[in-house]
Amino acid sequence: PPGLGSWTVRRARTTPERTALAHGGRRLTYAALDDRVRALAAGLAGLGVARGDRVAYLGPNHPAFVETLFATTALGAVFVPLNARLAPEEHAFALADTGARVLVHAPGADVSDAALQTLDVLAVRSEHADRASLTTLEVGAGYDELITTAATRSDPVHVDPDDTAVLLYTSGTTGRPKAARLSHANLTWNALNVLVDVDLARDEVCLLSAPLFHAAALGMTCLPVLLKGGTLVLEEAFDVDRTLDLVPAQGVTIMFGVPTMFAALARSPRFADTDLSGVRYLLCGGAPVPPSLLEVYAARGLTFLQGYGMTEAAPGVLLLDREHAREKTGTAGRPHFFSDVRLGDSGEILVRGPNVVDGYWRRPDESAEAFDDEGWFRSGDVATVDDDGFHRIVDRVKDLYISGGENVSPAEVEGVLVGHPDVVDAAVIGVPDERWGEIGRAWVVLAPGATSTPSDVLTFLEGRLARFKHPRAVEVVDALPRNPTGKLDKGALRAREH
Ligand code: AMP
Ligand code: MG
Repeated sequence: PPGLGSWTVRRARTTPERTALAHGGRRLTYAALDDRVRALAAGLAGLGVARGDRVAYLGPNHPAFVETLFATTALGAVFVPLNARLAPEEHAFALADTGARVLVHAPGADVSDAALQTLDVLAVRSEHADRASLTTLEVGAGYDELITTAATRSDPVHVDPDDTAVLLYTSGTTGRPKAARLSHANLTWNALNVLVDVDLARDEVCLLSAPLFHAAALGMTCLPVLLKGGTLVLEEAFDVDRTLDLVPAQGVTIMFGVPTMFAALARSPRFADTDLSGVRYLLCGGAPVPPSLLEVYAARGLTFLQGYGMTEAAPGVLLLDREHAREKTGTAGRPHFFSDVRLGDSGEILVRGPNVVDGYWRRPDESAEAFDDEGWFRSGDVATVDDDGFHRIVDRVKDLYISGGENVSPAEVEGVLVGHPDVVDAAVIGVPDERWGEIGRAWVVLAPGATSTPSDVLTFLEGRLARFKHPRAVEVVDALPRNPTGKLDKGALRAREH
């Protein structure tokens, strides 16, 4: 397929007058979006951005995210969305790891001096980015000036479909996060999977308050809706009252979210009186929709489409269609049309298809380990499958937990904990939590004579690690349970919790 960077040109050719993006009081038609994208591409080229260079974006959902995605890929460069919930040191890590040349950031998005100073420190240790070679553009300021003063418009360059279009970070099971290399083809085939399996119409109005910097929102709604010529209503954060206002006001036809969002809406005293008659269906991912929630929405004539996926699959893998939502409740459904799934050893979900990445950015070992001998991607999730082909996610083989919809790698948290001058050993596990699903629990061993308290250790994480990765509790112990090869015995830690 042709590159992502050509999509707005193609849309402007067929549906110039339709609204592509709505945000706050602002609406952008496909013609206007295309003009801004090509002006921005010219501006970025003027800053020296060329094929293969990385352009990062930091901020909540905003038209600038979409514009930067298309302008960057139109130049054959690589778009790097950063998770706005991360800490400055984590942003600096991603900027240095990708060697980003430009950072577009929202006003107030925390591209703090702390991040830039850390970047200087990291630059000493890496041959990639340094602060001097990074141009920052603030949305509403330098960014918009670049667009409005552009003297020319760039047309999309020809790209190889297998070229990387987007680098998207995902938590690794060892140490620091790694960026999945999403190609133009991966993202296009995923969007086609969605268009085949979800009856998305061209006059769809999709409300998107889940963050675009996650593969779910980007791959399951943003790109398919724009490919089809629909409208995206972008919200910077999920808010119950705003959502209940926007649905009738904007004529929303589909909503995308996670089960906790739909539960929060249903709990609102305004829910019963809000006109939802224009909504055609709900798209939900990350966890199965509880049967009780299915019933609440069914009473309003609304059904759920539920997805299972991962960043490395751009991201759709399994889909539970509306027709089977009740009969197959609790399952994650069947594979998307152009993707295949089989169960490997111990029931691990293996995925293969044109939407699956070929590896991670500058991580040859982890890239090789991610696939089996026949090229199937190892998901790290364990499932069972019924006679009709519906999969049920039952466990994870990877050491990872999910807190408030964000993946957390215990190894990463442990790595930061042992960075504390008094901490010589650390262990983290995820424990069940009513509000967040799971939350971290940590144990640390201190150096002889050290006097740090658990709260000193937690304070050390500020600015170094995103809030959602902070363990709720830290306990100081004399030693951690390790098996004979020295590996942490997480089963023993889990047993201590009961
Ligand atoms: P990420 O690496 O952030 O893309 O997250 C992908 C992981 O989220 C998967 O490997 C699963 O562990 C989990 N996940 C995604 N969708 C579902 C779902 N519908 N049910 C259960 N777990 C899910
Ligand atoms: Mg992952």
